[in-house]
Amino acid sequence: MALRLPSARALLIGALALAVPGVPYAYARSQRLEVEHRAATVASAMTNRSIHVKCPGPIRKRFMYEIHEGSVWFDADGVPVSETKLSADTCDGLREALDHAPALQLACLTGGACPGAEERVAQALAVLAHEIVHLRGVRDEAITECHARGRVASVAAAFGIDPAGGERIARWQTVTWSQELPPQYRGAC
Ligand SMILES: [Zn+2]
Repeated sequence: MALRLPSARALLIGALALAVPGVPYAYARSQRLEVEHRAATVASAMTNRSIHVKCPGPIRKRFMYEIHEGSVWFDADGVPVSETKLSADTCDGLREALDHAPALQLACLTGGACPGAEERVAQALAVLAHEIVHLRGVRDEAITECHARGRVASVAAAFGIDPAGGERIARWQTVTWSQELPPQYRGAC
């Protein structure tokens, strides 16, 4: 008995039905990997070692409640591991920087209300700068945050933000964001 193969047309429809739900997933994954790669590149350059950056995938993004915007583990000897995990909000903010850096109205950070994604982008870059300082071996939160303010403009540049925008983000981190942080993040500078 001959095996009846599905027609070419049926195969095509079947392939499309399988492919369509996968397209947004694959796209989201490539978008996430680009953010991880860009963040890892700047983190590695600032620590002189190879750093991995992890953004949450779709499952972790949906089901995990994240308390920390970013984290770095230190081993028993007080040496930071070569990896940082960032929250979904942080990764989304970095993605927005990559996608929209030239259009961001970063002047709003130092006076007035921001029209769009500027504060999310600024916070994401501030968090990444903070984790990079931990990766350099600093554990104390206040000292880490103090050093991060001096590095955030360079981190921002890696995501396409010009020096003037980087300065504004650093100022926002010092003046505005610092007030939202718990006491252990303040007072070192
Ligand atoms: Zn910290």
